[in-house]
Amino acid sequence: MNSIISPLRIRQMNSKNINLDGDFVLYCMISTRRLKWNFSLKYAVEMARKLDKPLLVVESLNMNHKWASDRIHNFVINGMLDNRIDFENTSITYIPFVETKSNQGKGLLQNLSDFSALVVIDDFPTYFPSIVVNNVGSKLPVMTVAIDSNGILPMKLAGKECITAHSFRRILHKNVLQYLENEVLGECLPKMDDLKKLPVEKINMIAKEINWEFTPLEWLWRASQQDSIGIDALSSINIDHNVYPVNNKMGGSKNAFMKMNDFVHKKLNNYSKERNKPSEKATSGLSPWLHFGHISPHEIVFNILSKEKWDAGLINESRIGSRSGWWGLSESSEGFLDQLITWRELGFNFAHFRRDHTSWTSLPQWAQDTLEAHSLDYKEEVYTFEELESANTSDPVWNAAQNQLIREGIIQNYLRMLWGKKILQWAPDAKTAMTWMIQLNDRWALDGRDPNSYTGIFWVLGRHDRAWFERPIFGKVRYMTSNSTSKKYNLEKYLKIYS
Ligand SMILES: Cc1cc2nc3c(=O)[nH]c(=O)nc-3n(C[C@H](O)[C@H](O)[C@H](O)COP(=O)(O)OP(=O)(O)OC[C@H]3O[C@@H](n4cnc5c(N)ncnc54)[C@H](O)[C@@H]3O)c2cc1C
Repeated sequence: MNSIISPLRIRQMNSKNINLDGDFVLYCMISTRRLKWNFSLKYAVEMARKLDKPLLVVESLNMNHKWASDRIHNFVINGMLDNRIDFENTSITYIPFVETKSNQGKGLLQNLSDFSALVVIDDFPTYFPSIVVNNVGSKLPVMTVAIDSNGILPMKLAGKECITAHSFRRILHKNVLQYLENEVLGECLPKMDDLKKLPVEKINMIAKEINWEFTPLEWLWRASQQDSIGIDALSSINIDHNVYPVNNKMGGSKNAFMKMNDFVHKKLNNYSKERNKPSEKATSGLSPWLHFGHISPHEIVFNILSKEKWDAGLINESRIGSRSGWWGLSESSEGFLDQLITWRELGFNFAHFRRDHTSWTSLPQWAQDTLEAHSLDYKEEVYTFEELESANTSDPVWNAAQNQLIREGIIQNYLRMLWGKKILQWAPDAKTAMTWMIQLNDRWALDGRDPNSYTGIFWVLGRHDRAWFERPIFGKVRYMTSNSTSKKYNLEKYLKIYS
């Protein structure tokens, strides 16, 4: 492995040269929105040092993407305020930029790259960040590299998309040690105390020349509030104001760390017993912070391995590819790492290799065939999209799950599976069910628009699963009912909160 980061994390976006006359190295932070365990930052710092240039980090938030809303803006802006503090003690110039007028950010990256020696940008395989990195990154006038900080394994490592969690697990177990040693247990921050500082006058002059209006700190602070102050600040931007900020979820690395710490030290021991119980808040709840890059899976794994005093001698090679037993950790830690690494990174792997990861064609052939064969089956109940969105069905368990999505921007994992399966049962056909699940989840979920969103939604339709007994509507795709869920788990508390 290369001294800075693994070469598999680096994607060269164009064939342009480094501009040795550039004023700075530019790091455009679009998805790895943090200081620690950030490989884009590590790479950018190393290059800035080599080229003897200052480093400018611009964290941006646009308004012109499909699901832009108060919920997303509030969460990301809270993260920017944390990052501002984190970068304050370094010699790196950090500028948070939120588009507050239509098209204000258009051309910003191109304009800044004219002054850059080289551009570093976060690599992310879905939604708006993937459009930015693939479309804009390739057109810039200087050398541009996209860096993957998404998972413990680089997205490209497997060489192709994995069809099953088992095949991904085998690759994980065969390769993870070197990544643990170099990237998880190694330094989480690059050495940056000897970096040149970009003079304030210089960046102000450049901003004037390219007509770049900085986002006022005072406005950022107001927009980070979750009460009427925040709502009022965001009201001037053309985004979806009906999707309001979630009260108990504040974005940012600081909150992510506290949540992670609390989970690892207070809840993790019971994870395998409790994680599927909808009425217990037994999981980490970290998916929104993971999605926006406010916390790295590396930091979570580091804390779990440290807590368990793990070392490589505990590995049981005979369990290679198995869901449990390979790490030599407690049952709960192994179960959690299987979700955090295998299942989470299976989604990144799939989205990286399959451009069609949000389309019907990404389903395995058996699933497409069986769902199409059953597309005309009789349905006792059919709902419109609006009825579903407003949680207006005859099923109290489903309505509660939908209410949780609307109010808290998340659904408990077990109920999230049921939520999807019922949409498949109630939508006019499976392709419409797919579109509706994506629309509902991408609009309302704080962790939506993520590779895991599409892993989950397409799992409902058969991806990464096997064929089961054939039945109406579902064909051979796995079936779930609210009745069996109610029998399996005590839902009383959950229904009381979310009905
Ligand atoms: C229909 C459907 C839609 C989903 N949409 C999303 C989504 O938009 N965003 C999202 O992050 N996850 C999604 N999931 C997967 C899963 O429900 C969530 O990741 C999990 O509930 C998040 O809660 P947590 O952070 O407390 O998870 P924990 O149990 O604490 O797990 C830790 C982390 O591991 C990852 N993880 C856990 N379970 C899964 C899983 N089944 N698949 C992939 N990764 C997993 C997540 O990053 C999670 O934050 C979806 C699942 C389904 C069935």
